[in-house]
Amino acid sequence: MIYYYFVCKRKLWYFSNDLTMEKGNELVEIGKLIDENSYKREKKNILIDENINIDFIKDWKVIHEVKKSKKIEEASIWQLKYYMYLLKEKGINIEKGILDYPILRKRKEIYLDEKSEQDLEKILQDIKQIQLLNTPPLAINDPICQKCAYYELCYI
Ligand code: SF4
Repeated sequence: MIYYYFVCKRKLWYFSNDLTMEKGNELVEIGKLIDENSYKREKKNILIDENINIDFIKDWKVIHEVKKSKKIEEASIWQLKYYMYLLKEKGINIEKGILDYPILRKRKEIYLDEKSEQDLEKILQDIKQIQLLNTPPLAINDPICQKCAYYELCYI
């Protein structure tokens, strides 16, 4: 949901209201394939509280999130910060997060500082407000809509 919050609040509302259309979407499937075929030696897909699914953790110190492109990097950064925040609340102090782009052969290090924690608390409040709306926020009319699993629901 943190990811969707940055990508599109309407998408977040759909998802929060159990309208899920990601399964079978071609782009989502490509993402999963990249994930399954990257970093094969690492321990992967750690599910915490049935709430977050971390791509992989190294020695419980560094968490990785695998992405296929840098297009929505801000959302990916906050997704990772949220994972670190949640683990910290459980007493697990993660040193850093790493955004991995295996196709681009690039990576970016992400840290959780005090300001990020405060921002996250505000974001979580905002998410709650969006979830409670009776109708979804307006469609964003952005080029990313063309590739969104909810496209038909928003525009057709
Ligand atoms: S199609 Fe666009 S407006 Fe609709 S949910 Fe997806 S990103 Fe949001």
